[in-house]
Amino acid sequence: MADLGNPKHTIEIIQKYQFAFQKKFGQNFLIDTHVLDKIISAAGITKEDCVLEIGPGIGTMTQYLAEHAGRVVAVEIDTNLLPILDETLKGYDNVTVINNDILKLDINKLVDEYNGGRPIKVVANLPYYITTPIIMGLFEGDVPIDNVTVMVQKEVADRMQVGPGSKDYGALSLAVQYYAEPYIVANVPPNCFIPRPNVGSAVIRLTRYKEPPVKVEDPKLMFKLVRASFNQRRKTLQNGLNNSPDIPYTKEQIVEAIESLQVSPSVRGEALTLEQFARLSNYFTENA
Ligand code: SAM
Repeated sequence: MADLGNPKHTIEIIQKYQFAFQKKFGQNFLIDTHVLDKIISAAGITKEDCVLEIGPGIGTMTQYLAEHAGRVVAVEIDTNLLPILDETLKGYDNVTVINNDILKLDINKLVDEYNGGRPIKVVANLPYYITTPIIMGLFEGDVPIDNVTVMVQKEVADRMQVGPGSKDYGALSLAVQYYAEPYIVANVPPNCFIPRPNVGSAVIRLTRYKEPPVKVEDPKLMFKLVRASFNQRRKTLQNGLNNSPDIPYTKEQIVEAIESLQVSPSVRGEALTLEQFARLSNYFTENA
C-alpha cells in the first residue's frame, strides 16, 4: 500500500535512515497525496503503461506509479537513497531502480529494454538543474513517448508556454511547443514538500504531438538555429547565426534566408515565432 505521501511516514523514514538532503540534487520530497493523485490521473497511467520515473527520492511517487502502471523504471542518482528504496518498494515486483545519472543514460536503450521500443510515459518531480536538458533531450533524442508529466518550478512551467515578447521565451519554449501540447495540471505551493523549496512549483503535462504544429524538414537544423539565436539574444538574428560555429551557412545565405521571412533585417531571434523558425529552417534546407 502506498503510504509515503503522508508527511509523518516521510519523516519517519528520513529519521530511520538518517538521510541527509543534498541540495545539489534538488531534493524536495513530495508530501501531499492530492498532488500525487492528480499526477497519476493527469498522466493517464494504466496497467498497459511502462513509466520512467526520474529521481524517485524515497519512493513516494514510485509507490503510486507501481500501483497504477504495468512497469516502472526509476532512475536515481543518489546512492544514499538505495537502501531506503529497497524498503519502501519492497512490496512491488513491477519496479526496477537504476542507480545512475539520468543525463548519462541512453534512454532510447532503456525503452527498448523495458518496453520493447513502444512509447513510454515519463513522470518526475524534477530537480531544477536538469529540467531543461532532460526535457529537450527526451524530445530531441526522439525517445518514444506518450506524455511527460513533471513537477517543475512554476516559472519554468510558464516559460514552456510563452511566445515572442516575453523575456522567458527561449529554446525550451520552442522545443516544448514544437514537440508537445502543454497543459498545467496543478500549481503546487512550497508546503507540499520536505524541505520546502523557496519558490512555487507546477505540474505540467506535455503530450507528444503525432504531427507537430508546423512542418519542418530538418528539426535538428531548426533547433541549431534556435540555439544560435538565443545564445546571443541581444544580438540581431543575422549576427547570432553568423557568429555561431554550429551554423554552416555564409553571411549571404543567412541574409537571404532572413529576407525570405519578410521581417526587418535587424530582427532579433527572440522576436521569431515557432512558425518563422520553421520557415527559416526550411529555407536553408531547400536553398542553401
Ligand atoms: N520523486 C521524489 C518525490 O517526488 O518526492 C523526489 C523528487 S526530488 C525533487 C528529485 C530527485 O531526483 C531526488 O531524489 C534526486 O536525488 C534525484 N536526482 C537529481 N539529479 C538526478 C539525476 N541527474 N539523475 C537521476 N536522479 C536525479
